[in-house]
Amino acid sequence: MLPDQSEDGRYSESAARLDTLLATAVDGIIVIDSAGIVQVYNAACERLFGYSAGDVVGQNVRMLMPSPYHENHDRYIASYRATGNPKIIGAGREVSGRRKDGSVFPMYLSVGEGHQNGQSIFVGIIHDLARQKQAEQERDRLAAIVESSHDVIIGKDLAGSVTAWNRGAELTYGYTVAEMMGRSIAAICPPERKAEVDALIQRVRRGEVVSQFDTQRVTKDGRTLDISLTLSPIRDSAGAVVGVSTIGRNMTELRLAERRVRELTQEMLHISRLSAMGQLASSIAHELNQPLTAVVNYSEAVRHMLTTSSPPPEKVADFLGKIAAQAERAGQIIRRLRSYVEKSEVERTLESLATVVEEATALATVGARVEGVVVKYEFEPGLPELGMDKIQIQQVVVNLVRNAVEALGGAAERRELTVRVGRSVGGYQEVMVADTGPGIPDGVLENLFKPFTTTKKSGMGIGLSISQSIIDAHGGRIWAEPNPGRGAVFRFVLPQSGASS
Ligand code: ADP
Repeated sequence: MLPDQSEDGRYSESAARLDTLLATAVDGIIVIDSAGIVQVYNAACERLFGYSAGDVVGQNVRMLMPSPYHENHDRYIASYRATGNPKIIGAGREVSGRRKDGSVFPMYLSVGEGHQNGQSIFVGIIHDLARQKQAEQERDRLAAIVESSHDVIIGKDLAGSVTAWNRGAELTYGYTVAEMMGRSIAAICPPERKAEVDALIQRVRRGEVVSQFDTQRVTKDGRTLDISLTLSPIRDSAGAVVGVSTIGRNMTELRLAERRVRELTQEMLHISRLSAMGQLASSIAHELNQPLTAVVNYSEAVRHMLTTSSPPPEKVADFLGKIAAQAERAGQIIRRLRSYVEKSEVERTLESLATVVEEATALATVGARVEGVVVKYEFEPGLPELGMDKIQIQQVVVNLVRNAVEALGGAAERRELTVRVGRSVGGYQEVMVADTGPGIPDGVLENLFKPFTTTKKSGMGIGLSISQSIIDAHGGRIWAEPNPGRGAVFRFVLPQSGASS
């Protein structure tokens, strides 16, 4: 090999190596001369700026800069030449680049100075920051959402030590982020719920997401809050669960309001039942007062006659006859009252029995679920509408369902209420209310629908009697059966016509 060939060979070999380096470098590499004219512009730069090497080499580098750097660059190089103040040279900093399409992107630029033929050249290495910036912005945006959330957002490791504590957590629990970071989450758990926290962490450790878990937590100042928690695993880049993220919502006020609504509805129900019964009872008492007073007076007179003299038998018979007549009058009053209920101005409209029953059941079971009563609906689809006084039929259903719920209050284990609406024979539709309570007490079954039959301390014993009057008035029938499993079954049927009896 000839010496000069070998010289050439060595030279072209290192030039080729340099070309490969420029072509394969991930970062942009650009070389400018002391006048700012681009000498070298690699493939990464082409990708970054959108200009080809042909567009840029031989041009002033300022074309790759947005305003005001674009305008100031020549002056900057001149000032460096005059003062030797390197500013960026020999170091690096974050600057902006301008793409061919005019868009501006963040980049990290480090500049080194070299010499060629007695002139300075500058080598710039350009690292694209757009992706990183975007990720940072995304992270900041998410952090801002987390921070501004009114919901509690907490991170903890698998040992239960807090790793993140947002503003919502501070406001809800009263502990600052500084107080809680690194501290055990046990700080906000009521002592009796410590095991629950461990169990939740175990579930999340297995990769489970726990949704809307209703529990309680304690604030720094000792208040107990109702909290709904959703817990999800935090995973590392390899997918292993390394922590738990918790989103919690303070349900205390909502739960209080719900409780209050339940109480008020209960009260309302109670009052409306009482006032209906109270009205009936007071009118019965008023009407019955007269004949009963007469019965008492006549009886007193007969007793007096019998103890003080020997009254003529026809006189005693006369008085006893008067007593019987007054008793009969009392009976008539009761019958009249019943027929008043039956014949009272009813407004018959066509209604879906299933809807009417469902609405009434929903009203009558408010709060029952909390007491562990499971309500099952079985509605046969496609039932035709029936003519009925909706309010009265609802009154019957409320009565039956309330009785069932009250009966279930005494049932220890299964507390089930089944409400069924379906077709019955002869064009009738049947409503069934069955419970798993203790059943109808002995001796009550035969008098169940008679007024004042009750086994309850504060019962009036007229609910079923009124219900019977209403169902009779609709041309239907109501009856009770002992529940074959356990408890009681009440059924009533209504005719298709909804005719008055
Ligand atoms: P009250 O509920 O005021 O007692 P009702 O006429 O509605 O009046 O009920 C009469 C009685 O029938 C009740 O006291 C109770 O002994 C019995 N009873 C009604 N429904 C049921 C039921 N679902 N399970 C057991 N007993 C019941």
